[in-house]
Amino acid sequence: MSRAPVQTIGVIGGGQLGRMFALDAKRMGYDVVTLDPQERSPTGQVADEQIVAAYDDVAAIEELGRRSDIVTYEFENVAIASVERLERLGHRVSPASSVLRVTQDRLLEKQFVNDCGIATAAFAAVRSGGDLANVARSVGFPAVLKTVRGGYDGKGQWRVGSLEEAKAAIAESGGLPLIAEAFVDFACELSVVATRSAADEVVTYATVENAHDRGILATTIAPARIAADVARRAQTMAATIGRRLRIVGTYCVEFFLTRDDELLVNEIAPRPHNSGHYTIDVTPCSQYEQHVRAICDLPLSPPRMLSNAIMVNILGDGKGDHLAGIPELLSDPSIVLHVYGKRHAVARRKMGHFTMLVDGPIDEAAIARAHAAHATLSWQ
Ligand code: AMP
Repeated sequence: MSRAPVQTIGVIGGGQLGRMFALDAKRMGYDVVTLDPQERSPTGQVADEQIVAAYDDVAAIEELGRRSDIVTYEFENVAIASVERLERLGHRVSPASSVLRVTQDRLLEKQFVNDCGIATAAFAAVRSGGDLANVARSVGFPAVLKTVRGGYDGKGQWRVGSLEEAKAAIAESGGLPLIAEAFVDFACELSVVATRSAADEVVTYATVENAHDRGILATTIAPARIAADVARRAQTMAATIGRRLRIVGTYCVEFFLTRDDELLVNEIAPRPHNSGHYTIDVTPCSQYEQHVRAICDLPLSPPRMLSNAIMVNILGDGKGDHLAGIPELLSDPSIVLHVYGKRHAVARRKMGHFTMLVDGPIDEAAIARAHAAHATLSWQ
């Protein structure tokens, strides 16, 4: 059954992912309305309209639904109740609330991945100190305790080396349900950005390599410097996960690659992802355009990389709101700069990123060049 064509896309959340999505949607002729509590949000600055309201403001969410032919979201912790409300009222929402129900709960998510026949680190639920004997037995130490819900960018996580440290982490967590995961001594972290359409078409971008700094993505190397068969395995797993989740839109699967080439899924993000920013600059159809295509029932575009790339995040450091060093950065013609339009460069806030286009394989010299380019920037 063909559905009514989309003219206006609603986006819950006004951050940088929504902004890059809106820029592509606008280029393709759509109208964009975003909902975010902060006026002139990064997405609001480039959308046609912004509804200024809290994410769980039911009346505002309903207004977004009325004004849009389809609603999507740009962060994974969007209130499920808001999405369900829109669905009950007959509005189209992509991805559906059924996807969020799995991806917002680290326990359900890991169980789901295992049910797909795909490995994760060993894990166990921790509701109280009484569960720790089971954790010691089935997960072991060192372990990582994480809040089951609501964590992002490494927030709500404790690395623990013993029962005593685990008890302290539970006390600090304030009674929130936790998951204990075996600490993985990984060779590297990988991710695959993929897009699935309602017609069950799935496209996967290159398997890329991510370096984090205290839980926040610092750099992405595209493609990952790993064996081709491992890269293909990760892409196949990402496609399987997307199909089994029945997600419609762009999503990301994050992996740990162990030292004996085993792939363990860490998490699934049901939205475009920081590790896919490079697709804007080196592929004809970015992860954001692909998301537009999927939710608007347009054909997907099989990803093609026109250049290798290194993406470097630009974080705030709390020392000032003016980004100095841009002329020096841009004196390198291989660099494309993206700045998100956030007023205050709060410490560790994602303020922008740059993509360095790399001819030929990515080697240590190219990585050093990217780090040196980053070092020319400072907040004043
Ligand atoms: P997450 O919020 O689960 O993506 O975790 C943020 C980062 O913490 C990951 O990208 C890893 O660098 C690290 N991390 C999370 N879980 C584990 C684990 N089980 N073993 C080792 N490192 C982890």
